[in-house]
Amino acid sequence: MLEDNIFLKIIARQIPSQIIHEDDWCLAFHDVNPQAPVHVLIIPRKEIPTHGDLVDADVELLGHLHLIAVKLAKQLKLDDGYRVVINCRDRGGQTVPHLHFHLMGGRDFHWPPG
Ligand code: AMP
Repeated sequence: MLEDNIFLKIIARQIPSQIIHEDDWCLAFHDVNPQAPVHVLIIPRKEIPTHGDLVDADVELLGHLHLIAVKLAKQLKLDDGYRVVINCRDRGGQTVPHLHFHLMGGRDFHWPPG
């Protein structure tokens, strides 16, 4: 996994991004390399490297991230369905070491995801 946490730079506004939501807990912005017509990343402000680093104290944050995903899915008109993905560490395909939800929609998704 890449060591450079580019998402911290997005939070700090050190590099540009297309932010569509921001609050005390999290940011959401368009993925720079979209894998679907809608591909948004939702990230916590808190530094959590991977899904496997979540702890009990993060339960409220996690609920918030999910509710933001629901809100953005409505806002982006993904009424007929969407996919939320979290890649964890190397074998899960994670490339940026900062927890993020991929919210994707606007096309059909298949299973297994590969
Ligand atoms: P993952 O492979 O699950 O760690 O996902 C990382 C995602 O971050 C990929 O979908 C990348 O396209 C995306 N990404 C990397 N750098 C940026 C950036 N500067 N702005 C927006 N998305 C990015």
